[in-house]
Amino acid sequence: MMAGDAGAAVLETKDEGPKIPDKNKTKFDVIIIGAGPSGYTAGIYCSRAGYDTLILSGILPGGQLVNTTEVENYPGFENGIMGPDLMIEMRKQSQRMGTTIIDDVAVDVDFRHKPFKVLTASEEYEGRAVIIATGANPRKLGLEGEETFAGKGVSYCATCDGPFFRNQDIIVVGGGDSAIEEATFLTKFATKVHLVHRRGELRASKIMQERALNNEKIKFHWDSAVTEIKGDQKMQQAVLKNLKTNEESTLDAGGLFVAIGHEPNTQLFKGQIDLDEDDYVVLKNKTHTNIEGIFAAGDVHDRNYRQAITAAAFGCMAAIDLDKYLTESADK
Ligand code: NAP
Repeated sequence: MMAGDAGAAVLETKDEGPKIPDKNKTKFDVIIIGAGPSGYTAGIYCSRAGYDTLILSGILPGGQLVNTTEVENYPGFENGIMGPDLMIEMRKQSQRMGTTIIDDVAVDVDFRHKPFKVLTASEEYEGRAVIIATGANPRKLGLEGEETFAGKGVSYCATCDGPFFRNQDIIVVGGGDSAIEEATFLTKFATKVHLVHRRGELRASKIMQERALNNEKIKFHWDSAVTEIKGDQKMQQAVLKNLKTNEESTLDAGGLFVAIGHEPNTQLFKGQIDLDEDDYVVLKNKTHTNIEGIFAAGDVHDRNYRQAITAAAFGCMAAIDLDKYLTESADK
């Protein structure tokens, strides 16, 4: 940005540090629901474009990355960065641009009338436009050891964590496209990948199945479930149970990737925003929902990429489209 142009002037006026939220202020140009990479990026772009922007961050500001350890694949950090640190940086950057961030949970929305309303337990906020950036959560196995060893062997993202498990045996649980894609990807690093599936046939597409079934580094454990995850500082073993014979066996493995699907956080929008059969937000023209002025960004609509960098990019796209929408509605 050249000195003297409008963008530089905006930056100069925002250098006074993070904005302290005005507790009595309830009307904004833009409300962003969710504070993962997509929400914060949308906040940076909307505030920088001059819109009075509110982020309602939910219970866990930072989203899924707060539960991650090292992030090695987010550009700009030669030596990697810890997930929570990356999210703190994004939050501060958004605040520096002027975004108001309130660490509260949206419990209801009313998108039927303009201005749109987003409600928390104690407040009602109004926005001329809204970006839904509530993300998705990986489905969990529900085992005790799963939480104990999360980030210490147990992972929900092969692209993110696969390279940490070079030359080790790895377990993948699931039988859908994600599990097969992750198992195949993990053969690049693992000595052996053990695919554990609860049934005797895969749900994944035929072509992906064939590729995995022909891969000598993948061993299939059919009709099986992981019943226990064991270790000390890190995970070292998993107990498998054959669901037909009830026979138990122990596998030595440094990593366990849970790939049994995701659940988008869209409960709040049911009946107002078009969702697909798996409850992901349906988009038209890349970022627009079925309601003019309501946009969505990140894992709440994206079931394919699910990366911090792609979520951030979707947040940027939603903010640019929102800018166009608000500019055009002001002209009308
Ligand atoms: P998914 O298709 O819902 O498959 C989930 C798998 O996990 C199923 O095999 C299911 O077993 C198993 N499972 C569910 N709950 C379980 C539990 N509690 N314990 C053990 N296993 C459990 O989910 P996904 O694989 O994440 O795919 C989601 C969507 O994204 C799909 O539409 C998929 O086609 C798409 N996708 C596409 C690609 C690609 O094309 N490259 C890649 C990834 C995802 P059952 O089979 O017995 O139900």
